[in-house]
Amino acid sequence: MSDYDFEWPAYVSVGEQRQRAQKELARLRKRGREVAPVVIEGRKIAKSFWGQSWCSNLESYSDFASRLPRGRSYVCNGLVIDLQIDKGKIAAVVSGSELYDVTIAIAPVASKRWRAICAACSGSINSLVELLQGRLAQSVMDRVCQKGEGLFPAPGEIKLSCSCPDAARMCKHVAAALYGVGARLDEAPRLIFVLRGVDEGELLVGAGQDLAISKSAPGATKVLADDDVAALFGLEMAETDNSSVAVAPAGKSPRCGRKASAPAAKKGRSPRRA
Ligand SMILES: [Zn+2]
Repeated sequence: MSDYDFEWPAYVSVGEQRQRAQKELARLRKRGREVAPVVIEGRKIAKSFWGQSWCSNLESYSDFASRLPRGRSYVCNGLVIDLQIDKGKIAAVVSGSELYDVTIAIAPVASKRWRAICAACSGSINSLVELLQGRLAQSVMDRVCQKGEGLFPAPGEIKLSCSCPDAARMCKHVAAALYGVGARLDEAPRLIFVLRGVDEGELLVGAGQDLAISKSAPGATKVLADDDVAALFGLEMAETDNSSVAVAPAGKSPRCGRKASAPAAKKGRSPRRA
């Protein structure tokens, strides 16, 4: 018996998926659960430095790159009906053919690595507002985004789990939750520091006694426009076939396609039920 031996799930339109998600959301609220759904406004999943950097970090790893697109339409269509980010943990409820619980454990930044980041950024970040808004010198942006050595987690630091029957290491619900984090960082950038278990205050000028005295003038802080950020971090998406479902067109940032297809498996096209 192969994986393919089951009845194809009925085609469910995007509208029906959204409706179902809204119903489930209302039901959870009625039960008194405090839910924080991911709401994507506009066509980009994430617009800020922190949100886009989160997404581009994940997409930069080949382990994840092929799996992540499955989650884009889910998050864009409002199917991540709850997303909670705490120290070392992301928990989400994703609406599919039923509700699925996603749990993602993220290891804290090792203290040695964090000290190295703080030392490298020392004297360059003048205020918490600048930091959280991502109005940072290029050297700081490069350092915090440094693959495997910065603030964003590598695959080895991420443990994924979902209550769905999809045996894939990263199912579409997990992928949707991961993109949801990018969107959430737009609204609440501080959560990246909470998630990684570090104190963002330690990055600020003069935060540590042992930090080197900065020579950089305030003018060294560069304000980057949205497009500059995208260009700087190479947010080019993997090439996509325009006819494929759920995948944003190639662009500077993960996007929500205007006509994203139903996340549910299309009849006769996919072996997966969700
Ligand atoms: Zn799943």
